[in-house]
Amino acid sequence: MADEFKGKLFVVPTPIGNLKDITLRALEVLQKAPFIACEDTRRTKILLNHYGIKGKKLISYYEPKEERQIPKLFKLLKNHDIALVSDAGTPAISDPGYKLIRACLNSGIVVEVLPGPSAFVTALVGSGLPTDSFIFVGFPPKKGTKGFFENLRSCRASTFIVYESPKRVVKTLEIVREVFGNVRVCVARELTKIHEEFIRGDIFEVMEELKNRKTVKGELTILFTEKP
Ligand code: SAM
Repeated sequence: MADEFKGKLFVVPTPIGNLKDITLRALEVLQKAPFIACEDTRRTKILLNHYGIKGKKLISYYEPKEERQIPKLFKLLKNHDIALVSDAGTPAISDPGYKLIRACLNSGIVVEVLPGPSAFVTALVGSGLPTDSFIFVGFPPKKGTKGFFENLRSCRASTFIVYESPKRVVKTLEIVREVFGNVRVCVARELTKIHEEFIRGDIFEVMEELKNRKTVKGELTILFTEKP
């Protein structure tokens, strides 16, 4: 079965802000692979131009289109390597990737995953919250958010990590407070970028700080713990 495919799928993490956060190996793979599967071709072009990587065929691979694109990518994988990237960070982490990776593994296509940036790991390490055990749950659902956090309560992790939009951060923290009480919180905002900040404190302090701002902008990750 595997002989059918001479190409490999390389999963390539890209920077979450600071364009210097890319590994030598990631650049090498992007230089060598003739095809790059990506979420937003415009975003990926900016990255490739920044590193002087030219002559690549970009294939869009984004959320609703994921399954439809797999046969096309499989045809290419018969003879060529493909690098999979997302707009930022590690593909398949709250980004497209999982379905293609699973399909490749089921068909005997070799998948090589490169280690690299992911916002939740950077946020956790910088938060100062316990790192011994944690649970990362991606974006909480917009509907049924309270039930979602209630279910999380039974998890034994020390630290809980969620991705959230700046528009919803205060509302989500309010729900966390209702469900978990006065937890210790860190909001990690704009990591690796000029306006990077970690807003740390108990949940009341962090909510107060965010409410006092005219607007909250940028990308952010919420972390909290019930531990002292
Ligand atoms: N694949 C990415 C990764 O490995 O982290 C995550 C993609 S997900 C669509 C984007 C979300 O990740 C943002 O809405 C935000 O919650 C979080 N995020 C991404 N970049 C961030 C940054 N620089 N600082 C804080 N959070 C970030």
